[in-house]
Amino acid sequence: MRLANYAGRASIVVDGHAIDVERASNGALSSDPMLLSDLDVHPTLKSIAEAEQADQWPALELARLGAPVPRPPKGFGVALNYRQHATESGLTLPTEPHLFGKMENCVCGPFDEIVVPAGRHEVDYEAELVVVFGRTCRAASAGDAWSYLAGVTCGQDISDRGEQFRLPVKQFTIAKTYDTFGPIGPYLVTLDELPQPDALEIEGRLSGQVMQHSNTSDLIFGVPQLVEWLSRFITFQPGDLIWTGTPGGVGEAQKPPRFLRAGDVVETEIEGIGTMRNPVVER
Ligand code: ZN
Repeated sequence: MRLANYAGRASIVVDGHAIDVERASNGALSSDPMLLSDLDVHPTLKSIAEAEQADQWPALELARLGAPVPRPPKGFGVALNYRQHATESGLTLPTEPHLFGKMENCVCGPFDEIVVPAGRHEVDYEAELVVVFGRTCRAASAGDAWSYLAGVTCGQDISDRGEQFRLPVKQFTIAKTYDTFGPIGPYLVTLDELPQPDALEIEGRLSGQVMQHSNTSDLIFGVPQLVEWLSRFITFQPGDLIWTGTPGGVGEAQKPPRFLRAGDVVETEIEGIGTMRNPVVER
C-alpha cells in the first residue's frame, strides 16, 4: 500500500486517487494520518483499498500531500552510514553507528518549503531512506527488525554545517532539527510493495542537477542493525522514525562547497517510493 497524509487526512493512494480512510470506513477509523503507522490497522486499510473503487475518489494533487508521519514520537538520524559518504568525508568507517536526534518540529511535507534561517550560509541537503516503526519494539534482533516497521519513505536530513562542525560548540542534533529540516514523503510505502527493501536506488537532486546517487545496499549499518542497536536501550512505538544516513555528494563535499540558497529546489527520489520536491526559502 501507498499511504498518505492527503490534505491533513489519512488516505490510501490507489491508481492516482486518494481514498479517505475515515469516510471509507464510515467513521470507524480516525482521519489522523498517525494511524497509518500502526501495523494493527494495516489489515483494515488493505480491505478498504481492495473494496473501494479508486476512481470514485479525488484525483491526487501532489501539492496537497503532507508528511505521512506528521507527529513522530521520536526520530533519530545516523551520521556517516554510506561507505561512499564516509570516504568523501575523509573518515574511517565507523564501528558503531553515530546517532543524533531529529525532533517532531523538523518534520514537514514532501512539497513544503525548507526554511534556511537568515544569515546561515552553510545549510546542506542529505537524501535519505527513512524507516517508520509500526509496533512496539524493544530488544529486537536484526533478524526480526523488518517485522516492526510499518514501511519506508523518502526523507531529507537538512543540516546546518556551521552549527554541526564549526561553531565553538558543535551542536549535532540542533544543527539537524531546525524547523523544516526533516521533510518526509510523499508516501509511507508498506514493505509488501518492495521486493528488496534493503537495496533501493536513491537519488538527490539540487535545482535539477544530480548531486547524490547510490543504493541503500551501500549502508554501513543496515536497517536491521540500526533497529537492533537502538532498541537495546530505547522502546520504539508506531510512528517513530530513523533517517538511515546519506550517500556521498552532499553540498559540503563539492569543490567549492554548494550550500542551499533561496530559490533552490531539493528533490529526493527513492526507487519504489516516489519523489519529494522541496523549494528552499530564506527567512
Ligand atoms: Zn543524515
